[in-house]
Amino acid sequence: MSDLTNPFLIVQGQLHRAVENLGFPEDVYEVFKEPFRITRVAVPVHMENGSIQTFIGFRAQHTDVTGPTKGGIRFHQDVSEDEVKGLSMWMTFKTAVMGLPYGGAKGGVICDPGTLTERELEELSRGYIRQLAPVMGPEIDIPAPDVNTNPKIMGWMLDEFDKVRGHHTPGFITGKPLVLGGSLGRDAATGRGVLFVVLRAMDRLGIDPKKATAAVQGFGNVGTHSARLLAEAGVKIVAVSDVRGSAYNPDGLDIPALLRYAQEHRTTKGFPGSREISNDDLFSLDVDVIVPAALENQIDGKRAELVKARIVAEAANGPTTPEGDELLAERGIFVIPDILCNAGGVTVSYFEWVQNTMGYYWPEDEVNDKLLRMMNDAFDTIYKMRNEHKVTMREAAYLVAVHRVAEAATARGWLSLDFQHQVPPAILRGAGD
Ligand code: GLU
Repeated sequence: MSDLTNPFLIVQGQLHRAVENLGFPEDVYEVFKEPFRITRVAVPVHMENGSIQTFIGFRAQHTDVTGPTKGGIRFHQDVSEDEVKGLSMWMTFKTAVMGLPYGGAKGGVICDPGTLTERELEELSRGYIRQLAPVMGPEIDIPAPDVNTNPKIMGWMLDEFDKVRGHHTPGFITGKPLVLGGSLGRDAATGRGVLFVVLRAMDRLGIDPKKATAAVQGFGNVGTHSARLLAEAGVKIVAVSDVRGSAYNPDGLDIPALLRYAQEHRTTKGFPGSREISNDDLFSLDVDVIVPAALENQIDGKRAELVKARIVAEAANGPTTPEGDELLAERGIFVIPDILCNAGGVTVSYFEWVQNTMGYYWPEDEVNDKLLRMMNDAFDTIYKMRNEHKVTMREAAYLVAVHRVAEAATARGWLSLDFQHQVPPAILRGAGD
């Protein structure tokens, strides 16, 4: 990872720019430039072959200025402390954009879960939570799924936390199985949020979804649900890719059939009627929408030059490098920034936590309706800001987010800003009303 692709340095740059654009003093950057707590854990696991292997994990908690910290846990061989730090800060700005009562956090364990047996994975998941339990809880820090983690892992983690605490704590973790207090609609929530903002963007740009085409990079939770829901809305999905391969068919892929195929073969590669394309080819397809739904740094300067799509919907966290971002902006491509585009997941996590607190559970259509309203409101606020201040959607999203955390920090007495005089009126919350 170079400095140009280091998520921590990238988000620091984004924060700094927003502080400047808002006319805030440097103090605001100083208060939020680092996670307030990083915990590093070493988790020994009894491996199937009789050996013991120790895995290294992290949990970065960026700020609790607006509430307990919130964010997923990823299991991946490329996890690093700086990655987790950067991702925790993106969570702060994501929850701020959505107006959720949380700060940001992110966790990660350096491992390749594909090589672990189910028992090894369970021991690792439980050990990670046992070590972090002192700094977690429904009013402290609330984890959730991220790359390569899922409801089953959340169930083990919840069980471990309950054992450590000695009582049931359903609001400790979100994205858990329904039977343990999970929310209907959570599994598909990130993809559904992607659908809602893509439809909103298409409407603003005069694109008819029924005549539109899209390509999706990544076929995990976010990619599969995004592709399925976009296809259900009439968008023709011509290409999808995953870590093992890809499927391309210019006439459109049969997404329900592809989902069944990928379930069985653990890849989209070789799907009947499709052919393989490279990632560079996928990003250069002549489609209306590109949905990067994999990892960070997929659209760098080189790839940004290739993009022909009118909309880039950042379903992943940090899929575009700053260089790529500048080029996409110069080329007039409409980027729906990650902190808005993939916020459906954490928003329904919030609904899950609220339901856990109430002990009263909502039907799925209520969850989806509330999500629609919140995604549309956030999109409209940012879109209005973009137009009024002649900035990109990403810059506009950071104006909203950084304004909110600075306001909260001022209300707590951490900063002494005079909002009456320093904030241009359009940047006040609710500008999208
Ligand atoms: N991992 C997801 C994200 O990056 C969801 C986090 C959550 O639900 O807390 O937004």
